[in-house]
Amino acid sequence: MAKERTYIPVDIRRELRVGQGHSCAVTFCTESSNLELHHIDGDPSSNAPENLIWLCANHHQMATREQIDAQECRMYKARILEQGSALTVGVREMLDDLKATIGKEALETLRPGMAGGRVPEAEGYARVPVKDEYGEA
Ligand SMILES: [Zn+2]
Repeated sequence: MAKERTYIPVDIRRELRVGQGHSCAVTFCTESSNLELHHIDGDPSSNAPENLIWLCANHHQMATREQIDAQECRMYKARILEQGSALTVGVREMLDDLKATIGKEALETLRPGMAGGRVPEAEGYARVPVKDEYGEA
């Protein structure tokens, strides 16, 4: 017998959405609208927060078809809990790959501060006084 879908309290839905930065949980998916709640274990009556994950309609369909399985959903959820939104996780990984490929020093040369070091007060990076609407600094 199929299990029945039960109401998911709005505060749980909200907390999960904010926890994921209002975006799909899949790394690098930038979809932030048309999000759907997926029951990771496939049981629509199991509404514990750890069993729920927000996915875009496309990734939700893939998860329902088990093209993204329950373990993968749990891994995406764990990464977000540890590191922030799916996009943040992806960008961090990309930076780590870039650092490993070109080296920390090269990355630091390209973009001071990107490799995790201190941003130098070098020429061109010096603080520019912000002028207000009257043109005064
Ligand atoms: Zn997605």
